[in-house]
Amino acid sequence: ETLDKGLEKSKTTFFSKLSKAVAGKSKVDDDVLDNLEEILVSSDVGVETTLKIITRIEKRVASDKYLGIEELNQILREEIAGLLSETNTGEATEFLVPIQARPYVLMVVGVNGVGKTTTIGKLAYQFKKAGYKVVLGAADTFRAAAIDQLQVWADRVDVPIVRQNMGSDPASVAFDTLQSAVAQNADVVIIDTAGRLHNKINLMNELTKVKRVMQKVVADAPHDVLLVLDGSTGQNAFEQAKQFTAATEVTALAVTKLDGTAKGGVVIGISDQFKIPVKYIGVGEGIEDLQVFNKYEFVDSFFK
Ligand code: GDP
Repeated sequence: ETLDKGLEKSKTTFFSKLSKAVAGKSKVDDDVLDNLEEILVSSDVGVETTLKIITRIEKRVASDKYLGIEELNQILREEIAGLLSETNTGEATEFLVPIQARPYVLMVVGVNGVGKTTTIGKLAYQFKKAGYKVVLGAADTFRAAAIDQLQVWADRVDVPIVRQNMGSDPASVAFDTLQSAVAQNADVVIIDTAGRLHNKINLMNELTKVKRVMQKVVADAPHDVLLVLDGSTGQNAFEQAKQFTAATEVTALAVTKLDGTAKGGVVIGISDQFKIPVKYIGVGEGIEDLQVFNKYEFVDSFFK
């Protein structure tokens, strides 16, 4: 079954589509560029970023006159790596938190269903494995299921969780969580927040209040605001990034469900358009299926 999925995917990857489009061609012409544009857009790179890449390649064609297909591959790789480098300067491969932040407070935002809870669980697992003392805060108090699901992960990873009843004030849960974390000398606090987008003003007010109240306990909290996006939803992910970045200062991205989708291009477009680093990628439902984003590995996989 896994093999089937892999084969299914390989028929539709960026690289396979590109190979098909340039088959029989020896140089980059208008036809190749048109196809490339279509392939980038259908790989969820986004129109703006696609046009940016195409314009740069057009310039190369104009100055080189004869640009071979092999060179096109190389240039594309460089362009994509370059776009990712604007936000991802590091080449981190491990789950590390900044030394100067104790506890390091990570506030997690994102719409329901994108994999927010799962990502928090996987992160808790990785941070714990790396030797950090982790505390979770269930500040998504809007849905009882959200609290229960986070509890399931806390039990699974065996880390403490601070929770209140459904409907209680998210800021109050966040406050309690930070107090508890400080009292326990925790290294990392991960705060789940409500995933509603129906009203931008409400969302903004809620996140702002959670932040303000947390700062009563840890003055520079949150150290990061991590937006979780579903990498298989393409245009929706762009729209959510737009809404959340308007509502709060997002400092990092986690892109989930990059397994089973050939549309990893969303990582390129989102990095470029929002100038926020992708820090983590989700590659499955299991506890180990979260990776620290590495731009070089990503570019390699895009061209396979
Ligand atoms: P939330 O509503 O945003 O908290 O979403 P959940 O964490 O409950 O995840 C929704 C569904 O997506 C669950 O079935 C997860 O197992 C699944 N999921 C989360 N991350 C990934 C991923 O990286 N890959 C895959 N294939 N599924 C994922």
